[in-house]
Amino acid sequence: MNADVLVVGAGPAGSVAALVLARAGARVVLADRSSFPRDKSCGDLVGPRGLQTLREVGLPEPAGLQLGDMVIVGPTGRRVRLPCFTGRTYPGRAVAVARTQLDATLRQAALDAGAEPLTGRAEAALRGDDGRIAGFCCGGVEVRAGVVIGADGATSTVAAAAGLVDASRVLWAFALRSYAEQRRPVELPYIVWWEPEPGRILPGYGWVFPAGEGRVNVGLGVGTLADRRRGAEAARRLDGFVARLHALGLLDGPRTTSGGERRRAPLGGWLKLGIVGTVPARDNVLLAGDAAGLVNPLQGEGIAQALASGKAAAEAVLAAPGCPAPRYIADLGRRYGRYQAMAAPAHRAMMERPRRAAAVTRLLTLPGVGQAVAGGWSLLWNDLVEGAPTGPARAVAGSASWLGQRAARRSETYLWISRLFAPSEGRAESEAEAGEGTEAGQGARAESEAAAGEGTEAGQAARAESEAVAGASARAESTP
Ligand SMILES: Cc1cc2nc3c(=O)[nH]c(=O)nc-3n(C[C@H](O)[C@H](O)[C@H](O)COP(=O)(O)OP(=O)(O)OC[C@H]3O[C@@H](n4cnc5c(N)ncnc54)[C@H](O)[C@@H]3O)c2cc1C
Repeated sequence: MNADVLVVGAGPAGSVAALVLARAGARVVLADRSSFPRDKSCGDLVGPRGLQTLREVGLPEPAGLQLGDMVIVGPTGRRVRLPCFTGRTYPGRAVAVARTQLDATLRQAALDAGAEPLTGRAEAALRGDDGRIAGFCCGGVEVRAGVVIGADGATSTVAAAAGLVDASRVLWAFALRSYAEQRRPVELPYIVWWEPEPGRILPGYGWVFPAGEGRVNVGLGVGTLADRRRGAEAARRLDGFVARLHALGLLDGPRTTSGGERRRAPLGGWLKLGIVGTVPARDNVLLAGDAAGLVNPLQGEGIAQALASGKAAAEAVLAAPGCPAPRYIADLGRRYGRYQAMAAPAHRAMMERPRRAAAVTRLLTLPGVGQAVAGGWSLLWNDLVEGAPTGPARAVAGSASWLGQRAARRSETYLWISRLFAPSEGRAESEAEAGEGTEAGQGARAESEAAAGEGTEAGQAARAESEAVAGASARAESTP
């Protein structure tokens, strides 16, 4: 089978990439290992920038629950309401929509535009005479293409095959979500910082998001830095977290995440945060969405970046089909370079210094403090400063961002991201670190291949933990 572009993965990133390419007349194969509709572990919130990208590519806003302000709950139970602003370039709302629905709709839009579907897991890379990737064998079907877009999620097989990941630098997180019935409606999304034992904050956060029809989406995620074995803590702690939510008065339904007639077992998944460790493109291979590690390291959002990077990857291919990588990297640098160079080191610093992280969460939720900075916090945390309306909130966010950049400037993570988005000499260094010849690159490939095949140790541990905690039907999507 031949195509101009093979897109691996039909999540938000891959479907939008395929849509934009197919509309422009390119021959596109859109391959996914799953049959659609398929579930995806997620909080199900599409943020303002995600809605904006959907508008830009001419797709309707997903039908779902419209949400605005968000509430942060500190370890002591104190609450701060973060306001949602209408920006100059994005709407003042998010939409809660089940991923079964969102992803199937996006994929169908790509197919309606002319992309050709293929159900099959991309396994072995096909190589040309020059050694470059020339396609993939997907579920036994050989697909040859001039360009390959890897939109195959956090444990991307394409990224690994192209040697684009330096596993020792990646910031991983593992999160699980479950749905719960609720008697009293939950009106706003809640993010909850939690100390499972006094003085020891969980290295991540949990959430309760309205899901419509008397249900909520409940989840818990932990950051693991490069050590994916630590991801199992999210599964081990989930029921304890649900108990905490009951104690806070946020949940009033069943007290465990297992059992219950209309409830689904928790589903876990990996998040690759802050781009560090992943070179998003080389030659004719581009990575989009989670495959490129674009998830916001401060709050875990990734759908908006998946949609925008899918669009950007397609536009780079259309503009320079023979050599799309430089244009694509430059585009990502403009969108995410500054933010990720501040947010990724901040995430790492919080993970490495849990006491300081605990102190920050307590400080931010102190009476008076949280309310004073809530507007700026909302903009900065959600990467909404650019395009925000002028005013005090934007000024606070701008100052905090500047301070964050200054504080991070000497960190390895900051330097790696800066080199990636610098003109070519800097990037060559980042690429060499993630390259095929390095041990790190090989390690990353082995890890992702394992994830695509039998499952990683961490994934297995997570699944085992999920099963132990939440019953035999708990699942982890990265260990199929
Ligand atoms: C628990 C949890 C909660 C989250 N909550 C939110 C939230 O509320 N809001 C938000 O914005 N983000 C959230 N995220 C992040 C968000 O889910 C991702 O950033 C987003 O799904 C990325 O989209 P994508 O298209 O890059 O990848 P995915 O949505 O992961 O899609 C990748 C696709 O590739 C396919 N695939 C994988 N490997 C192969 C292969 N080898 N061959 C063929 N196909 C393959 C998969 O089947 C899948 O369909 C959350 C993540 C988790 C884990």
